[in-house]
Amino acid sequence: MSASVVILGTGLAGFTLAREFRKLDKDTPLVLVSRDHGGFYSKPMLSNALAGNKTAASLVMKDSDKMVAELNATIHNRATVSRIDTAARTVELADGTRIGYRDLVFAVGADPIRLPLEGDAADTVLSVNDLDDYATFAGRLDGVTSVAILGAGLIGCEFANDLLSRGIVPTVIDLAPRVLPRLLPEAASERLRAKLAEAGAQFRFGVSAVRVDRVGDAGNGLRVTLSDGQALDAGLVLSAIGLRPRTTLAAEAGLQVNRGIVTNRLLAASAGHVHALGDCAEVDGHTLPYVMPIMQQARALAATLAGNPTPVVYPAMPVIVKTPACPTVVCPPPLDASGAWTVELTDDGCDARFHRGDGQLLGFALLGAATKQRQALATQVPGLLV
Ligand SMILES: Cc1cc2nc3c(=O)[nH]c(=O)nc-3n(C[C@H](O)[C@H](O)[C@H](O)COP(=O)(O)OP(=O)(O)OC[C@H]3O[C@@H](n4cnc5c(N)ncnc54)[C@H](O)[C@@H]3O)c2cc1C
Repeated sequence: MSASVVILGTGLAGFTLAREFRKLDKDTPLVLVSRDHGGFYSKPMLSNALAGNKTAASLVMKDSDKMVAELNATIHNRATVSRIDTAARTVELADGTRIGYRDLVFAVGADPIRLPLEGDAADTVLSVNDLDDYATFAGRLDGVTSVAILGAGLIGCEFANDLLSRGIVPTVIDLAPRVLPRLLPEAASERLRAKLAEAGAQFRFGVSAVRVDRVGDAGNGLRVTLSDGQALDAGLVLSAIGLRPRTTLAAEAGLQVNRGIVTNRLLAASAGHVHALGDCAEVDGHTLPYVMPIMQQARALAATLAGNPTPVVYPAMPVIVKTPACPTVVCPPPLDASGAWTVELTDDGCDARFHRGDGQLLGFALLGAATKQRQALATQVPGLLV
């Protein structure tokens, strides 16, 4: 039986786990397998990279060779896993390489959800979920004066703000009636929308895109037809309507999957010596596609893999929305929470708090000057997994 810890994926989850594990265990052989370049970059930077004039190459903080040296690991880049045998504890790559494992970790991330669109340019719609996507996106912006963004969630709003920094007009389209509908109460949504609109963004709510077709002009060469029959022209269409955990590989290996790869608080999947973390994992019923949960998961799983079984703990984990037009922090209440929002709007911000009937703070949303309350409020919100 192999002594190796094998991690599938070299995103924030895979690399953070590898780094945490190496702090505790310098010797166990560590193998990472990645579909991509195998270098280290910070994915959250993809949605504010235009403002910083970043290229895909300059976003790479450490290439694969540097990560191999730092982690004392083997990295298989641009590799496709063709089969996992959880009884024999082996991973087989498409090129025939067979890797045995003592413990296997899925850190394979999530896929962008695609709207079923009609039209002769439906296949030109982009999503930006990794460095290669960013390279394609940035490369197609030359000469573009307007971009249609499908989805008014966190990532759609961040890209809208980033495009404004290049003088490109974004039009954000969503079936919902407002921005960040799942993360902000109505008045806070309206403040964020107003600030983005003041900076030059446009919005179309209550409609979805149904088709994308080519029309003549190079800078504005696509026509997006909406569900209400109206249309708008744009040079590029960017889809940001959400992510779906990558579960196919795990399901094919016979693991239990639901919304994500099902794990308990030890990040253990349904087969022995198999674990999952990051965007692909559903941990004790929660799928949380953000950086802070990954940090918590990586520290806990590293300890477990180093011989000290450690359940993951989730404190309150506020998320910063990277919209410089209106700095925003969200810490949404649990989906099933009962309670009510109180919202205080001021000239320079918005302080929204969600309380349970007994007065316990369960979540908050802070905009503008109110964002400085972030730490103080986070300590009052009960953790999700304690
Ligand atoms: C534009 C954008 C902005 C964001 N901004 C923020 C933010 O401000 N704050 C925040 O908290 N979160 C943010 N997020 C979310 C955060 O970046 C993610 O939660 C996190 O990066 C996910 O890391 P991951 O390692 O789970 O997945 P990924 O980074 O997607 O990594 C998955 C890895 O698995 C590999 N892989 C996939 N399939 C296979 C396979 N079959 N075999 C082998 N390898 C495979 C991939 O090549 C990749 O290396 C943002 C996300 C996006 C897209």
